[in-house]
Amino acid sequence: MANLNIDSVKARTFDAIVIGSGMSGGWAAKDLTEKGLKTLMVERGRNVEHIKDYPTTNMMPWEFPHGGKVPYDVQQANPIASRCYVFKEDAMHFVVKDVEHPYVQEKPFDWIRGYQVGGKSLLWARQTQRWSKYDFEGPARDGFAVPWPIGYDDLAPWYSTVEKFAGISGNHDGLPALPDGEFLPGYPLNAVEDHFRKHLKQSHPDRHVISARCAHLSEPKPVHIAQGRVQCQNRVLCQRGCPFGGYFSANSSTIPWALKTGLLTVAPNQVVQAILYDEQKGRATGIRVMDAHTKTTTEYYAPILFVNAGALNTNLILLNSTSSRFPKGLGNDSGVLGKYVAFHNYSARVSAEYEGLKEFTTDGRNPAGGGYVPRFRNVFKQEMDFLRGYATSFGASRGRVQPDSGFGPDLKQQLEKPALTPWGVHAGMMGETIPKETNYVRLDPTRKDEWGVPLLSISVAYDDNDEKMKQDFFTQFSEMFTQAGFTNIKTNDSHQAPGLDIHEMGGVRMGQDPKTSMLNKWNQLHACPNVYVTDGAAMTSTSTQNPSLTYMALTARAVDHAVSELKKQNLKTT
Ligand SMILES: Cc1cc2nc3c(=O)[nH]c(=O)nc-3n(C[C@H](O)[C@H](O)[C@H](O)COP(=O)(O)OP(=O)(O)OC[C@H]3O[C@@H](n4cnc5c(N)ncnc54)[C@H](O)[C@@H]3O)c2cc1C
Ligand code: SF4
Repeated sequence: MANLNIDSVKARTFDAIVIGSGMSGGWAAKDLTEKGLKTLMVERGRNVEHIKDYPTTNMMPWEFPHGGKVPYDVQQANPIASRCYVFKEDAMHFVVKDVEHPYVQEKPFDWIRGYQVGGKSLLWARQTQRWSKYDFEGPARDGFAVPWPIGYDDLAPWYSTVEKFAGISGNHDGLPALPDGEFLPGYPLNAVEDHFRKHLKQSHPDRHVISARCAHLSEPKPVHIAQGRVQCQNRVLCQRGCPFGGYFSANSSTIPWALKTGLLTVAPNQVVQAILYDEQKGRATGIRVMDAHTKTTTEYYAPILFVNAGALNTNLILLNSTSSRFPKGLGNDSGVLGKYVAFHNYSARVSAEYEGLKEFTTDGRNPAGGGYVPRFRNVFKQEMDFLRGYATSFGASRGRVQPDSGFGPDLKQQLEKPALTPWGVHAGMMGETIPKETNYVRLDPTRKDEWGVPLLSISVAYDDNDEKMKQDFFTQFSEMFTQAGFTNIKTNDSHQAPGLDIHEMGGVRMGQDPKTSMLNKWNQLHACPNVYVTDGAAMTSTSTQNPSLTYMALTARAVDHAVSELKKQNLKTT
């Protein structure tokens, strides 16, 4: 890291500041520096350098002291993190421990975080789908949440930009509800996934099983090689950090790219407490940070700020950025800051078995994870007794029958030619939830963390709409599975708290009307236009798609706007 020479205001002044170094912050840093801006990227967690800081990446199963499991005492101390599937011995060092970063649950909410350079981009499952025009039009059509100030056509070129650079594998499926993109070759479905695809085509021509689209280099292009990344080796150990750069993360891609320009300063271990606002200038001027270890505070300045701290932390920073102009939080003239938080409902699953196609199996190493059934409910018009809809992950696999003899030729035979179980199939609902005023975050009035920032208090819950949607999912998938010849069909409601989907969004929503939204169509705060928010906090509604691709596309579009506004002197603070 460069010496910031904190005694000099000049040394603490940049052309742009990015708060947060994860999926969206990494993108902001890349584009700002590529466009020639001297940029400071501030990150509350430690530095994680690509390859060098992936301690478990090449470890063999027998090298983990606890066999890959989280030790009991760590589990007991961190019940929230433990509910996340990546919180295992190989990746738990990238997940925030409950005990270290408390928050307040007014209602149960599992807040899964990754505080380090790269944020949660190291841990994600890499599923990447574009929104369609129907997703953007949803709120205007049914009147829940405010209308989006942008539509699919505004974002489409930026989706392309991101897809080409990040590397997204997928097929051109030609579906109106799930636009195609700039794809590397898709991963194939296995025999049973394809069986279900064919059946569905016959029984429900408006429903589709496609290969999941994911941020893996199935066939790298020169732009990926230039990033130092090579073809994905299908190891499926991605959450450890991938030494091949086979999947997209800020660490393997955007941050090193930005560093190569010589214009990026990465400042890890710096907790942003608040954004500074100058009443005379009517603009934000910079940030106040506290060093995570020494607890000293410093200010940094820039004419443009990108807030990319991860949806709820972005809410926290804005709520904590008060001034006499903005007593309720930066840009919060409307009073909606922190409200209309939404998420994805991942609490429903349907599983079954299939006795057919036993001549086939899998090697279990499809980085895309299997199939994806795009949303088919309420896409083009309102037709159900619930709003919006759900997409579904769909996969099929076979397990090994456990050897019943531990010795001799029997064991050898079973290891060489293991007996396999019948196919197991599973569908997981990814439901859209409706952003409501009653789902909100706010500052705890009394308690602060070690870095002087009030604890975030979260009050988010499911509602009747989520329940009705879930029942429809159970009915539809049970029926479709029956028609496909699957047996032993079971529905499962995990009753998990909101949050475990790790797709929390909203609180700083975009909208046309400053009276009901925080951000305009360029992701600028209506009331403080040199501050851009381009992570999940900006989302007006959630749709069903995995969100990160959309955050990056919004970021790319906003950076382009910010830099052109800066050139026109429209964002100057001095
Ligand atoms: C296990 C798992 C699976 C997932 N699977 C998918 C998937 O398949 N597809 C998908 O689209 N998404 C997926 N996600 C979600 C995805 O990771 C997030 O949408 C994405 O990382 C959000 O990007 P971001 O930039 O908003 O936040 P992050 O990537 O979380 O980055 C935010 C950064 O800001 C930093 N920060 C926070 N507060 C401050 C502060 N006060 N000062 C300074 N820095 C701060 C944090 O430390 C962090 O590094 C998954 C997430 C997890 C954990
Ligand atoms: S599956 Fe691909 S991206 Fe994941 S760890 Fe293996 S090589 Fe890396």
